[in-house]
Amino acid sequence: MRRVLLHVCCGVCAWASIERLREEGFEVEALFFNPNIHPFSEYKKRLEACREVTGALKVVLLEGEYLLDDWIKECRQYSKEPEGGRRCQICFYIRLKETLRICRERNCHYFTTTLTISPHKKSKDIFSIGRGLGEKRFLEIDFKKKEGFKKSLSKAKELGLYRQNYCGCVYSKKAVSCKP
Ligand code: SF4
Repeated sequence: MRRVLLHVCCGVCAWASIERLREEGFEVEALFFNPNIHPFSEYKKRLEACREVTGALKVVLLEGEYLLDDWIKECRQYSKEPEGGRRCQICFYIRLKETLRICRERNCHYFTTTLTISPHKKSKDIFSIGRGLGEKRFLEIDFKKKEGFKKSLSKAKELGLYRQNYCGCVYSKKAVSCKP
């Protein structure tokens, strides 16, 4: 069976993405690698939700390192960019690059990410970064299609999964808390 390493950003997005991949005939392993998330208490909440989802769906979950300092070094120069700008491109790149590294290490056939399920993220940006990194191994799946986002929300509600109200980094958190 074709094995895919799925980068997961949170439990809410993981459920519908794993189900979609399974429907399409893939065997799934998951990787939680999200050094962008701030603060650490938030990181732990999202990781815990991913553990819950992968445990229920019987999917192997690999847990990456929390390399926040490295992430900040790369992204802080773009702290003022709006969501979807240059900072986010680098953030996607950092997470996908590590996913490809682990994909190779584990001899998975493909890698992809739950990030495309978010209506706030342009799948074409994520595809172009994934393709640039590993053309043959990157699976271009737009998880928001086939009602993916809607399904993920209803599953999260049903299971009482933790659901965040900001994208993840300190800059996105500030942007939310500054809204009137
Ligand atoms: S807004 Fe989201 S995608 Fe953009 S840099 Fe922050 S955590 Fe990454």
